[in-house]
Amino acid sequence: MPSWIGQAFRRGILTSRFPRGPASPEEVPETSRPPVLSPTLDPAPALSRATEDCPTGAIDPEGLHHGRCIRCARCTRQGFAFGGRAHPCASRPEDLYSAGGGPLPEREANRALAALGRSLQLFLVDAGSCLACNLEVLALANPYYDASRLGITFVNSPHHADVLVVVGIPTEPLLEPLRRAYEALPGPKAVLAVGACALEGGIFRGNPRTRAPLSDTLPVDLFVPGCPPTPLDILEGVLTLAGRGRGIQEAPP
Ligand code: SF4
Ligand code: SF4
Repeated sequence: MPSWIGQAFRRGILTSRFPRGPASPEEVPETSRPPVLSPTLDPAPALSRATEDCPTGAIDPEGLHHGRCIRCARCTRQGFAFGGRAHPCASRPEDLYSAGGGPLPEREANRALAALGRSLQLFLVDAGSCLACNLEVLALANPYYDASRLGITFVNSPHHADVLVVVGIPTEPLLEPLRRAYEALPGPKAVLAVGACALEGGIFRGNPRTRAPLSDTLPVDLFVPGCPPTPLDILEGVLTLAGRGRGIQEAPP
C-alpha cells in the first residue's frame, strides 16, 4: 500500500482528461477519424474508383457512408485520408453520410434523451461482434478512462440499466434476446449502437445468418461509427445520449 501511494505522488493523475479537457493525440489515433476525400481532387472520378475498392459499400459514386466504414484504408489509394472530425456519433444514420466524400455535416443535439440525467447505467449486449468493439466499450471501466468519475457505470441486468449498448452485427439467435433485453430496461431508456457491425453490418454485411442494421430490430437512439470506435468515441456517445456531449452543436430550442 505505501508503495502505491508513493507511485501516485510520483506519477500524478493518469486518468484521461476527456471530456473536461481536450483528448490527447494518443487517444485519437489517425484511423479513428473518418476518411475524407482530398479537396484538391475531382470528386466524381475519385469516388467512382473508390467505390470499386471499398469492401463494405461505404463509398458510392455520390459520397461516403461512415456507418459502413471499417477503416481498412483501401480508399487512401484513391485520394482519401483519415482526417475527419473526431467522435462522429449521430442520432440518424443519414447524418453519417458525407456527400462528395468531404467532411461530415454538423449534427443536432439529441434533446429527447436529456431525461436520462447525470447518472447512467449501461448494459452491454454483444449481438455478434469480433470482440474488439466489446473490449473498447469495457475499457470505459478501466482506471484510465474511468467512466464512473462521470456517473457512468456498467450493470449486470437490463432491469437496472438506462442504456442498452449493443456491439456486433445482430445474428439470428440473438434477435429475440436483444428484444427481451430492451423490453426489460425500465425507462427512460436508450439504445446505443457501437461499431460498424451494429450500425450497418460492417465487414459481415449481407451474411445470410445476420440481420443488419440493428435499427431494424431495436429503436437505436445514437450511432457510434468505427471498427472499432475508440473508448473516447463511445464515451462521447454515452454523454451525448444524456445531453452532455462536447462535440455537438446545440439545436435551437
Ligand atoms: S476505409 Fe472505409 S471507406 Fe475507405 S475503403 Fe475502407 S471501408 Fe471503404
Ligand atoms: S465493427 Fe469492427 S471491431 Fe466492431 S465488432 Fe465489427 S468487425 Fe469487430
